Amino acid sequence: MRIGIIGGGLMGIALAYFLSQAGEQVTVLEQGAELGGLNGRIQFGGLTVARYQHAILPNDDRTRSLCARLGLESELVFRTVRTGFIHDNRIYPMTSLRDFLSFAPLTLKSRLQLGGALLQAQRRDRKTLDVVPVKDWLVQAGGAATFEGIWRPLLEAKFDGQYDTVPATYIWAWINRMMGIRRLPHLKGKVGYLRRGHYSLLQAMAEAILRRGGHIATQTRVREIIIGDGPVRALRTPAGLMQFDLVIAAIATPAFAQLVPGADRHYLERLGREKYLGLICPVMVLAQPLSEYWTLNLTDPNSPFSSITEIPHAEHPDCHVVYLPRYTASDNDWLGVPDEDIREAWLAHLKQVFRDFDEKHIRHFAVSRSRYVEPVYSIHASEKATAVQTPYPSLFLANTSQVYPELPTSEAVIVHAARVADRVRQPSPAAPLPA
Ligand SMILES: Cc1cc2nc3c(=O)[nH]c(=O)nc-3n(C[C@H](O)[C@H](O)[C@H](O)COP(=O)(O)OP(=O)(O)OC[C@H]3O[C@@H](n4cnc5c(N)ncnc54)[C@H](O)[C@@H]3O)c2cc1C
Repeated sequence: MRIGIIGGGLMGIALAYFLSQAGEQVTVLEQGAELGGLNGRIQFGGLTVARYQHAILPNDDRTRSLCARLGLESELVFRTVRTGFIHDNRIYPMTSLRDFLSFAPLTLKSRLQLGGALLQAQRRDRKTLDVVPVKDWLVQAGGAATFEGIWRPLLEAKFDGQYDTVPATYIWAWINRMMGIRRLPHLKGKVGYLRRGHYSLLQAMAEAILRRGGHIATQTRVREIIIGDGPVRALRTPAGLMQFDLVIAAIATPAFAQLVPGADRHYLERLGREKYLGLICPVMVLAQPLSEYWTLNLTDPNSPFSSITEIPHAEHPDCHVVYLPRYTASDNDWLGVPDEDIREAWLAHLKQVFRDFDEKHIRHFAVSRSRYVEPVYSIHASEKATAVQTPYPSLFLANTSQVYPELPTSEAVIVHAARVADRVRQPSPAAPLPA
């Protein structure tokens, strides 16, 4: 089968990889100058850094076995990491149970309630959390004081204030993922990185796709998926119409909706209801470490960024790469702000926490922005997910809105891509149009 895949991010490339391994003839069409999407990279002269930091947790089994299959095992390094919170411009470690029990911003009662809530979430049947707003559940399980002191600022930052309808499954998925750091005794407390970044995983898959006779075209933006009476076969690109037996859009739902103006009105309305978060993320390369922490979450509502993640560059240990992300709802005020002003505001806040921080240690600085980084799930999300099979024969959609209840991680993307690759090869009727 000739299969056209729109999007050369991890989802599109993993799909193309699995399908080409199964003997299909794939073509990936990516609008960017390089593959990667969120897993892309930035070049600072001869220094390459990941556009956004990506870690592999010990329980990311599918990612680890894919790395092994692609000969990247020796590139995967695990490091012991420390995590913490910044509260009132002070750092509080949060790596061990002892850190947790001595977390001064909360009273002992609140700490015990918080611990109880986290244990409860881990043990709860996920389906019972699907219908409860995360705020209601956290207040009920951990108390109002803990919610106000810890959860509210974290949720505000993560969802840019729009978490009213986010289901409690978010906490369930987050705890289960973070517990993965403790699962394997020999990797307890460690997180993994690919030496040359996640981009090398995409590169290795891309090479395998080409070896199997697949095609990958960058700087090729699909402008329209042509929907007619029969199966969907044609894509409009700047180079003209391209024909396939089957098409998979491996892009965010709002981007997909723009490509199908000829689709049924009810279907378009349904696609339009899916909300996504965007991201503004300055990355700095420093000549010396900022702190000894891998990740610090901020509880200050006035901070322009929600967390600080720092990793030494795997190939240049004298370079320390620091990410300062801010998730953005579609109406966020920072969206139209120029990079220089972002830099000024972000560094001004950073200096409130790290008073000795000196800008002369910044070797490189860049601001990355992405419009659609992850879907915002809402209560009853499992019933609302947009199906992989669209109402149009031979047209499929694969993106992170479909990995619920898991978090939209690379691991979830790889698992989903393998599932979708199997699915599209089975004959199946188009989904019914929504009423
Ligand atoms: C800040 C950040 C940190 C993260 N950290 C981790 C982590 O530590 N561990 C982890 O497991 N996961 C992490 N993730 C999640 C992971 O990055 C995503 O799950 C994954 O990259 C999603 O890949 P994707 O292919 O679905 O989307 P994308 O990467 O967005 O890819 C979509 C691609 O489609 C292209 N495209 C869109 N429209 C068109 C068109 N019309 N024509 C052609 N091409 C088009 C885009 O250019 C893009 O390349 C992180 C994500 C972010 C944002």
